[in-house]
Amino acid sequence: MQTDAGVIRCPQCAQQLRVDRGHVTWCDRCDWNVDPNPPDRQDPAWRQRLEHALADTLYRELERGKLHRPGWDAARLAAYGLAGLLLLIPLLSFLAGIALLVFYRPLWLCIPLAAIAFCVALLLRPRATHLPPDAYVVQRDEAPVLFTLLDEIATVVGTPPVVAVAVDAEPNISFGRVGWRFQPVIGLGLSLWATLSPQERVAVLAHELGHGKNGDARHGWVIGAAESVLRQLNEVFSNQPMDEYRLDMAAAIGATHSNGHLSRVINSIVGPVVRGYTWLLERVSLRSNQRAEYLADRRSGEIAGSDAAAWALERSLLADTAYRALERALRFEKELEPLEVVRRAVTEVPQREIERRLRLSRLREIRTDSSHPPTYLRARLIRTRPATTARVVLGLNENRAVDRELVPAAEHVLKELRAELAQ
Ligand SMILES: [Zn+2]
Ligand SMILES: [Zn+2]
Repeated sequence: MQTDAGVIRCPQCAQQLRVDRGHVTWCDRCDWNVDPNPPDRQDPAWRQRLEHALADTLYRELERGKLHRPGWDAARLAAYGLAGLLLLIPLLSFLAGIALLVFYRPLWLCIPLAAIAFCVALLLRPRATHLPPDAYVVQRDEAPVLFTLLDEIATVVGTPPVVAVAVDAEPNISFGRVGWRFQPVIGLGLSLWATLSPQERVAVLAHELGHGKNGDARHGWVIGAAESVLRQLNEVFSNQPMDEYRLDMAAAIGATHSNGHLSRVINSIVGPVVRGYTWLLERVSLRSNQRAEYLADRRSGEIAGSDAAAWALERSLLADTAYRALERALRFEKELEPLEVVRRAVTEVPQREIERRLRLSRLREIRTDSSHPPTYLRARLIRTRPATTARVVLGLNENRAVDRELVPAAEHVLKELRAELAQ
């Protein structure tokens, strides 16, 4: 229905639409073509409705200012119960193995049985989280300005100082606790970090450090350890090529000549149980996880100023644009500074496209992962609360100093990614 070069009429409501080369043409009156490639959904419709309803009621509670720290509600107790139960299994298996060896005879029967018990204990043992192997770790003395900023935000949030910053190329900024001492670490994804203005950087860091303060179930050790055990189990008991654990287990049972068949049988029994358990744990932690996101956003608004916090959230909708620009720059535009290309790609995105992505997040209810409520609700909540001024301000000079401090990390990370892309 082309009426003019650069303008078409909406096929649904006949409103005139500007065609923006390189971006999706859509209608802001009737939402026509807001989502040109709807994804194949694997989740059943009732689950999407449930999650949406959950996010919406939470939003309303927060809007009225009712919600405080995540409390010990039934869902949280259930999450801890499920996680605790899972963590008891390795301990009980280990004890059972010892008991078998000590009390059970004949020995030729009890040794393989004890071996199975020890295998289960080994397989299900909780593991400490480690830094991702491809991340470049920046220590305190290498980036004094960045750590001063992090300390300042941590103090206002009321959380212990960060011990290290793990830099990678991902379009994501995260908070985690690593090792058995659960030391707080910030993950800095350069393709997102590069696109943020100074105050948006404060907002994102305040959001992440807010997770450290809220005692989020997701970051708590019990739930985290249970999740890591489930992840491990999922890997082991999906139908992949031979796996050392399954081989061990099959060998322990004495079925060396029928490995393939036996592992398929084990997979078909254990696999669905593991997936079901994962699903259940996710469901019961969903509410407290989503609440944690809203609370972290609120804290981010209080610390960085509500405008910057809302902007930073909307910026995250452009994360894939940023990452694709980075890949393109590393592959084809070798004479340009890659992060500068990313910055330009993101600032060139018109406001109308950002608005489309916000509406898309409402339509699809996309979340960064299932623990995140839809971005449009999060941004709206920040914008509907009374505007706040910043408590922590990152000046332009300090911001440039932070960028300089991150140069060695950026060079290393981008070099690795370039090599990876060249393969
Ligand atoms: Zn229309
Ligand atoms: Zn978050």
